[in-house]
Amino acid sequence: MFATVMIAGLLSGCVDMTTTPPVDSRPQSQPVSAPVSRSGSVTVSDFANVVARVEPVAERECRARTSGANCDFKIVVETDPKAPSNAWQSLDASGRPVLTFTVALIADVQNTDELAFVMGHEASHHIAGHLARTEQTAITGALLGGVLIAAIGGDASTIETAQNIGATVGARSYSKSYELEADQLGTVIAYHAGYNPVRGAAYFTRIPDPGDRFLGSHPPNAQRIETVRRTMATL
Ligand SMILES: [Zn+2]
Repeated sequence: MFATVMIAGLLSGCVDMTTTPPVDSRPQSQPVSAPVSRSGSVTVSDFANVVARVEPVAERECRARTSGANCDFKIVVETDPKAPSNAWQSLDASGRPVLTFTVALIADVQNTDELAFVMGHEASHHIAGHLARTEQTAITGALLGGVLIAAIGGDASTIETAQNIGATVGARSYSKSYELEADQLGTVIAYHAGYNPVRGAAYFTRIPDPGDRFLGSHPPNAQRIETVRRTMATL
């Protein structure tokens, strides 16, 4: 039932809601001091609100921390109801950063703080250049026309395939240090978007223990939450 009301297709963080608009047309900009912080479940309009609040902050941090990077985040929902609970960052054919959330993940989060934190975390992977750095480590020296094709996986069809694989096998494997770095910057983004990152990081206490094969590269949950708390103390 959740999937039937989910916004089909693309929900853009930069306002071009290219498909069906949210059924609920509550105002999408809330005062920073009073974020929509709901518990128990996250609705379509909650998701749209989190996008509307987090994307501009992520974009601002991206522009401040990078030079010349594409910071125009597109935030999309993978509507396949069979796709496992997951979120990931990728690049589209034009190099635009895409943050994808499956409907299963949106159903899993307990409140908008968790959703905002995961969104900030995924945006941070892009801001910190983790995708490119990971690919560059895996495939070195592949130069084509002055562009490191390894950084984005090549042409559009290659990227499409990569996204499909991401949706199938679960989280992309980043190193633990990259994950902690994304947690740290994700804390900053979620906080400045008006959410509670410590509450948001509680999401990690419910995901599978990082010993399994998909999450084997992830740091222990306690270490991630500690990173969030330490970062919060500096804000
Ligand atoms: Zn991550």
